[in-house]
Amino acid sequence: MSGQVAKAPNLGNKQKNYQFRNWSSTFKCVPELYFRPKSEDELVNIVNLARENHKTIKVVGSGHSPSDLACTNEYMINLDDLNHVLEFDPKSRIITVEAGIRLFQLNQELKWRGIALSNLGAISDQSIAGAISSATHGTGINFGNLSTQVIGLTMITASGKKIHCSEVKDAEIFKAALCSVGALGIITRVTIQCEPEFRLEAEQQPMKLDTILNDLKEIVCSAEHVRFWWSPHTDDCAKQAETIGYFRETILGYHLYQFLLYLTRFYPPTIPRLAHLMFLIKFNKGTLMVDDSYKVFNSDCLFEQYVNEWAIPWERTAEALRKLGQWVRENDEKGIYVHFPVEVRFVDKDDIWLSPSYGRKAHTMFKDELTKAYPKFKDFLELREELDPEGIFLNPYLRRHLLGEYGPKVDAAQFKARL
Ligand SMILES: Cc1cc2nc3c(=O)[nH]c(=O)nc-3n(C[C@H](O)[C@H](O)[C@H](O)COP(=O)(O)OP(=O)(O)OC[C@H]3O[C@@H](n4cnc5c(N)ncnc54)[C@H](O)[C@@H]3O)c2cc1C
Repeated sequence: MSGQVAKAPNLGNKQKNYQFRNWSSTFKCVPELYFRPKSEDELVNIVNLARENHKTIKVVGSGHSPSDLACTNEYMINLDDLNHVLEFDPKSRIITVEAGIRLFQLNQELKWRGIALSNLGAISDQSIAGAISSATHGTGINFGNLSTQVIGLTMITASGKKIHCSEVKDAEIFKAALCSVGALGIITRVTIQCEPEFRLEAEQQPMKLDTILNDLKEIVCSAEHVRFWWSPHTDDCAKQAETIGYFRETILGYHLYQFLLYLTRFYPPTIPRLAHLMFLIKFNKGTLMVDDSYKVFNSDCLFEQYVNEWAIPWERTAEALRKLGQWVRENDEKGIYVHFPVEVRFVDKDDIWLSPSYGRKAHTMFKDELTKAYPKFKDFLELREELDPEGIFLNPYLRRHLLGEYGPKVDAAQFKARL
């Protein structure tokens, strides 16, 4: 015997009894151990520990996913301390950042360097890894989702090995990892192609739903980034962004709206009237906003809310919204009411394996449907099996949706925070 004691691997900050809740407080969990590593080496040690102890790992960004996608009862890892800029080339405007950086931090880092992301979603609270892992998108018929701005990434796989991949190196892994919902490994670094910083002018105007749908192609192509909100139970729409003063925005548009929505839970038939009133307060006024791109891309998502999102071929927008309108009207008569504006945005196609915009296929929910809707779904599953044969990166959500498993062990009900 040498008499030497093996040094315990450095796992960084770890915590028991950490309570995780997603942004909308609809799902929660208490992972067995919660880690907040400060380096890739610590991350590798955590992956090795999980493998030795037969534990699974879920990496979490800012927990903004509306489902139980980020929930686990085993190991949870948060990368908030891995949020630095690692490399920047001013000439090519390519930047490499640690994967835990939040988009609002990234926007600031880019601004200091005179560059910007080409497009962004409605908020900047997400981590860059979380945002790309779920193909987060903004709007713009010629702009892909956020993952399409990424040109390279580093990932730690279940074996503890680091993979650097890009369009030219391990391109298949790259196309799979760009939207991989945490199923292939832990993304630790992201390299992004940026563009010179720019300002945007956003004009908002009230319009009727039929006017937009009748003229959709022209409207969608009328500016670089077009979106509109339709207020169900009415034919009112607002096109693009808004800037309203403090009283309208904060007192009426937030607190009063939230309170009235709460009251409608006790008497739902008032929802259509509330929808109309809020449209008048928040949207029924033409506005013009000129600001830094990231401020205009982002909008106020107001308070905690239940949301879901559907991706459909853009040419079928009118058909889908007319059918939805008809459904709302029919169910209105049956006493079913829809609360919130329906936001409609447009995203360019891409070739990222699990992106809803891959080949412009429609987005559906479970394994059999996913296999039909995503041409690369089977390849994704094969790659997942190859990189993570023991399923270290699988949580109940991924077991349900990717592997088609069902039963109490994988049921979302175990993580429900409230009905
Ligand atoms: C108010 C609000 C507004 C939103 N606006 C938009 C919008 O405009 N457009 C849009 O498309 N979506 C939008 N979303 C959805 C949101 O962008 C996605 O849910 C995104 O995944 C959240 O990022 P996150 O950092 O919170 O990730 P989390 O919810 O924490 O995690 C999401 C997934 O990413 C994985 N992940 C996180 N970090 C890593 C990593 N380092 N390595 C590997 N996997 C990782 C997780 O394991 C999980 O599977 C919005 C959500 C909210 C609540």
